[in-house]
Amino acid sequence: MWRGAHLIGMHGADAEELRALLDVAADASFEPDAIQGRAVANVFFEDSTRTRVSFSLAAQRLGARVVDWTSAGSSVSKGESLLDTFGTIEAMGFDAVVVRHHESGAAQLLADHARCAVINAGDGSHQHPTQALADALTLGEALERDRGWDFTGLTVAIVGDCVSSRVARSNAGSLAALGARVVLVGPEAMVPAELGEALGCAVSHDLDSVLAEIDAAMILRIQLERGAGELLGQGFDYQGRFGMTRERASRMRDHAVVMHPGPMNRGVEIEGAVADGDRSVVLGQVEAGVRVRMAVLEEAIRRSV
Ligand code: ASP
Repeated sequence: MWRGAHLIGMHGADAEELRALLDVAADASFEPDAIQGRAVANVFFEDSTRTRVSFSLAAQRLGARVVDWTSAGSSVSKGESLLDTFGTIEAMGFDAVVVRHHESGAAQLLADHARCAVINAGDGSHQHPTQALADALTLGEALERDRGWDFTGLTVAIVGDCVSSRVARSNAGSLAALGARVVLVGPEAMVPAELGEALGCAVSHDLDSVLAEIDAAMILRIQLERGAGELLGQGFDYQGRFGMTRERASRMRDHAVVMHPGPMNRGVEIEGAVADGDRSVVLGQVEAGVRVRMAVLEEAIRRSV
């Protein structure tokens, strides 16, 4: 998970490192001195609501100074490259840069050139490690798992456009490290068998057949900005086959929860009544996101000194 002071992804995540971070976030046992007065830049080349705001709030809560930068209105429109943009911002003296970019691998590229800590806030369809941490914290707390974050015996379905999803890839890594069984569920084109093999997950193309055996359904948005619209044939009834409707939610086990990283397209992958219903922990994921980002910033800056 950690590569020095950098947090790039969850592939091959180390369970001990994950658990240590979840403990800090769950207990809110932060050491503000580690980060007080440090400077954090949010460098976002792609749109964001939850991740950018929560990184800002997390840094501020720990007493850091935060600068929010977005590519819109920047010198990117004048042709400045990713590395030059990053080098320019880093030269101003930031201790950590939180970066989101539409290219898979962008965060690793910057980390390879960085002197400060680089935290991946989403790179293309590759990784989104702090979303996976927020999801693990939410799941552990919602299902009242003891501290120790042992998810052995839990089955989590990640439902929808898995092939385009950095959330799916990151959760596959972290949930497996914590001991959960992960099933990728969706249309063939969005959940190809090779993806399941690559991520070490089971695959199903039939949501109805897995509902009764799962402890959590993590619903994904169809990533139109990554070309997902073309994956489904004309007239494909997505909601009919893979939408998390009230009727489907009613067939889940009593304790099972419904998750969504946001933004939601109500009426497509999730019915509004489910998003707002008793099983939904969607806003809990948002709240957990602030705590895990506090823990991540603190640890990244601690590692970088
Ligand atoms: N907010 C998540 C992400 O940035 C999920 C999504 O956009 O659908 O990957």
